[in-house]
Amino acid sequence: MLTVLTTNTCTAACGHCTVHSSPQRRGRLSLETMTRVIDDLHEVSGLQVVVFAGGEPTLMKGSLLDAIAHCDARGIPTRMVTNASWATSDYAARKMVRTLREAGLAELNLSADDFHLPFISFDNIVRAWRASKGQGFLNVAIANCYGPQSKITPDFIRRELNEPDIEVRFDDQGSQTQPRAVSKDGSTYMLSNGLLQRIGRAREHVGDDDLFYPSSQAQLDMACPWAIRSAALAPSGHLVACCGIEAAGNEVLDFGEVLTQSPSSVAREAALDLLVNAISAIGPYRLLQLAQALDRSRTVTTRERYASMCEACEDLVRQPAAIAVLRKHSVVVGREVAAKLEREACLT
Ligand code: SF4
Ligand code: SF4
Repeated sequence: MLTVLTTNTCTAACGHCTVHSSPQRRGRLSLETMTRVIDDLHEVSGLQVVVFAGGEPTLMKGSLLDAIAHCDARGIPTRMVTNASWATSDYAARKMVRTLREAGLAELNLSADDFHLPFISFDNIVRAWRASKGQGFLNVAIANCYGPQSKITPDFIRRELNEPDIEVRFDDQGSQTQPRAVSKDGSTYMLSNGLLQRIGRAREHVGDDDLFYPSSQAQLDMACPWAIRSAALAPSGHLVACCGIEAAGNEVLDFGEVLTQSPSSVAREAALDLLVNAISAIGPYRLLQLAQALDRSRTVTTRERYASMCEACEDLVRQPAAIAVLRKHSVVVGREVAAKLEREACLT
């Protein structure tokens, strides 16, 4: 999977935005860069899906549609994540949805939660959702993240849409649910539910009581399924490990620029990096603990508790002291990674 972070300009500036998008930011990928990176990675790895996200991807107008059509022509399914700021009337919603389908978009994700509300009315989501019905999408999802204080939750959305039976994508443990019901029109309609986390801009705007915490921090001691396997193309033209945090410019998660270098060689090089492999194999929570245990100078800090694995990851990769101590003790880290991979190999 490749996520194309088309632009960091957004029609909103949500307080929980993990990638710091806003109307003031101006990063933007050219059509040429998007298609070159997609073609290169598809040839080498066979992309199963390309996700167009941002910022707000529809601000890219024609180049977004051309990039979607480019993937469609190569048989690569596409998904777009949008805040639906364009759905200001039923007419506008229908027009955008049809234009996206005609370009070949397969999956539509509409983002809705409390932090979008100061910028985008929930009515936009309702209009976009209704306009998407019967248009031939593979699936349409409302992506909703929430916490204990949230107004916009899966139950709220079901009530507002008057559709009490919309399935959720994840169960209470965060595992993908099966099977997904396909509606009569051939599309799957669902809620892609997740919990709020304090990363990116949320570090300043999301409070302790806005978050659900796992009953035990040991639940965060897990491998990251996205690092390496699910890279993102940042608006700056850098290939990064994931779209979970703003990774461009980060010493560990930024794999390098792909404007002048071959994207697949940059990805291959990154796949050899010890810390990227360690995040992928033993996970950032364990690595942060390891960094603290190995740090004689006591400069590596951790939060009292974490709500998610990505919170721990952001704390890890933003601390040069933690990275330095892990690289210095690469043999210890390497042993843990090897032991984990061996255990997995035995199980399979
Ligand atoms: S969360 Fe989404 S809609 Fe909000 S600022 Fe970030 S990219 Fe824009
Ligand atoms: S754990 Fe780190 S690498 Fe994995 S998705 Fe979260 S931020 Fe990205």
